[in-house]
Amino acid sequence: RAKSLGRNGFQFFDADLRDEIQTRARLGNELRAAIAGNALTLHFQPLYSMPGNRISACEALVRWHHPERGMIPPDQFVGLAEENGLIHDLGEWVLRAACLEAAGWPEQVRIAVNVSPIQLRNPRFLSIVEGALAGSGLAPARLEVEITENIFVQNSATNRDILHRLGQIGCSIVLDDFGTGYSSLGYLRSFRFQKIKIDRSFVQELPERGAAGIIRAIISLAQSMDIPITAEGVETQDQWAHLNELGCNQVQGFLLGRPQPSEMIRQSLLTHA
Ligand code: C2E
Ligand code: MG
Ligand code: MG
Ligand code: MG
Repeated sequence: RAKSLGRNGFQFFDADLRDEIQTRARLGNELRAAIAGNALTLHFQPLYSMPGNRISACEALVRWHHPERGMIPPDQFVGLAEENGLIHDLGEWVLRAACLEAAGWPEQVRIAVNVSPIQLRNPRFLSIVEGALAGSGLAPARLEVEITENIFVQNSATNRDILHRLGQIGCSIVLDDFGTGYSSLGYLRSFRFQKIKIDRSFVQELPERGAAGIIRAIISLAQSMDIPITAEGVETQDQWAHLNELGCNQVQGFLLGRPQPSEMIRQSLLTHA
């Protein structure tokens, strides 16, 4: 194949790349229209306290209802939105919609909203959060902001400052997908999270010994810092039992409840909150 890479080879490659760029540009335009035209929707996945087994929070997970392609999962457009800047409008829509929904839930149930590290670069970010809270009447203490370890790629004072101010508003800050990215114990010391979510990849390897050891270590670290631990991606009774034994504080996963539309989550909250 390398031999055929002359002029023509490069033209062939160019054409592929051009297609790819055009596809992404089209998808970007469609996404912009979808945000403006309310074609996005939120699903909500319950988080259960452990022990106790009540729904103590729900995580808002965005979906794009595409006219031709049906329901598109966030993995297929959040990255694009981060690249082309649409994440700011998308994130604002998500925050508003999530707070409005949660304002109708029982008081003790919190709402977890995923926020991309890129959103923190928006100088309006804090006022967007305040606007979503004020517009919905949701108490700030009921909003949990989930942020991944990528926040630490730039371990900037600005990021820490914004998270700190979010905390001052009264929201809690959750470290999402812990253990997969740029985790460093130093970061845990430099910023105080209200909760740590162990990534699904560790949970799914349970009861394999290596995974159990890592989870045990994360939990004991968190306990020593007084930070509650959530495990995501719990799919089996066996995983649940291990996490319970290890002292995990909260669980989320298909075993307990899938992400579901708002009407369905309201039903679950009637009996399980
Ligand atoms: P995440 O924040 O770690 O959310 C959990 C993901 O794991 C969700 O995928 C959820 O459906 C899935 N999940 C939950 N329990 C299980 C389980 O037991 N087994 C398996 N296999 N999967 C489980 P989803 O909804 O496709 O979201 C993927 C990611 O997209 C999220 O990961 C989050 O990083 C991002 N995302 C979702 N909504 C938003 C949003 O509104 N804003 C931003 N910035 N990112 C979002
Ligand atoms: Mg999350
Ligand atoms: Mg997660
Ligand atoms: Mg995850």
